[in-house]
Amino acid sequence: MGAELVTLQRQYFNTGAPTELKHRKKALQTLRKILTIDVNEILDAVEADLRRQKGVTHALEIANAIVEIDYYLEHLDEWAAPTYVEKTLTTALDTPMIVKESKGVVLLIGPWNYPASMILLPLIPIIAAGNTVIIKPSEVAENTAKVFDRLFTKYFEKRYLSVVLGGVPETTELLKERFDHIMYTGCTPVAKIIMTAAAKNLTPVTLELGGKCPVVVEDDAPADIAAKRIAWGKWLNCGQTCLAPDYIITTPSMKSKLIVALKSALTEFYGTDIQKSKDYSRIINTRHFDRINSLLEKTKAPILFKGGEVDRNDLFIPPIILDAHRSDIFMEDEIFGPILPILTVKDLDEAISVIRSGEKPLAAYYFTKNSGKIDKFLNETSSGGVTINDVLMHITVDTLPFGGIGHSGMGRYRGKFGFETFSHEKGVLKRGYFGESLARFVFKNENF
Ligand code: NAD
Repeated sequence: MGAELVTLQRQYFNTGAPTELKHRKKALQTLRKILTIDVNEILDAVEADLRRQKGVTHALEIANAIVEIDYYLEHLDEWAAPTYVEKTLTTALDTPMIVKESKGVVLLIGPWNYPASMILLPLIPIIAAGNTVIIKPSEVAENTAKVFDRLFTKYFEKRYLSVVLGGVPETTELLKERFDHIMYTGCTPVAKIIMTAAAKNLTPVTLELGGKCPVVVEDDAPADIAAKRIAWGKWLNCGQTCLAPDYIITTPSMKSKLIVALKSALTEFYGTDIQKSKDYSRIINTRHFDRINSLLEKTKAPILFKGGEVDRNDLFIPPIILDAHRSDIFMEDEIFGPILPILTVKDLDEAISVIRSGEKPLAAYYFTKNSGKIDKFLNETSSGGVTINDVLMHITVDTLPFGGIGHSGMGRYRGKFGFETFSHEKGVLKRGYFGESLARFVFKNENF
């Protein structure tokens, strides 16, 4: 089935139709229409998958996609046009330029945690760059996957944009095919499988992965503001966010202030009975529930705060804050849940050494008013991106590239960076038939 679909899309790509600017814009407008006319179907499906309030999903997964589509529609002509570059002495009479070529058939594989936006945000640059696309949404968020299948089948031709439903066996089948680019969002171990499959055909990949995103809070930061921002980013979607603060690093004196402020932020967001709050999401399934719960059973870290009791029948794990040590089990892998370890260090140097001892995270966060220390943090830590004095927010700026480094991913997208990722920038030199004697003179003098 995968082979047939790829052949069908490749034949259509080879007609040149998807690369026409008119076609690309129409596809973006159709996608925009789906996100306005049929949005409730998507919101209902995400709610069924994640028990996340529709308003929150609209803000986090739909509104940003609409903004991105509009941004693309505004800039597409400009980005798709050839870029003229500086000439060299030997090409003084010629025209060197970069032509933006569409790549071909793209495979887009999505995760379950933001099941709409992690399909929509990469889909926008893929089609804007003139490619055809096969989408494999996560089977774990099965309601959202089915809605995308239904809506995309209704509005797009299969030979241009199609959805393949299913899990590991279906993805494994698809990965046997030859694509012109693979865009994968998910976890690091599976990314290795994707990259291995891509290597067989020398297919370029963009890998958007996760990691342990640290938050360093300095003594000079206002504890209440820092705590509120961290609490929002950590417990949004029940901690199941690739950019969520994974753990905090701070000094002993700031730690006690932060704990008080984090508790008060949690009460403000979710009330005193968190399990009853409509704003607090659930763990996606029992497999992930059991993974996090078994870590809770094994951890040696004292509990500083626990906002309720774990409830497997309700897939509920409350916000839990731990007084953790670097060797704690929660410090091994990305937590991807509502547990927040706090490590104490004596200064920024020690905080940086903690961060540098692990794999490079998708994001790093730093709260301070000291600009010299901010420079040091930026220079001495490596991560996909950074927000200073807040968390997550750098992803909202579409003039910034979004992506990981090392184990948190490779490649980037959003805004113009996405257009570049899914296009081939072809270097072209256009020469005329004049200036023959000058060219010979230059070649002679440059010892060709
Ligand atoms: P996952 O890797 O388990 O699944 C993602 C996709 O890969 C799914 O479509 C799934 O069907 C497919 N898949 C799973 N196992 C496979 C296998 N063995 N062979 C082939 N395909 C396979 O990831 P997930 O659990 O859905 O998502 C959570 C992870 O994604 C976290 O690590 C999170 O940090 C990361 N994430 C990253 C970003 C980002 O933008 N960087 C965004 C969201 C999530």
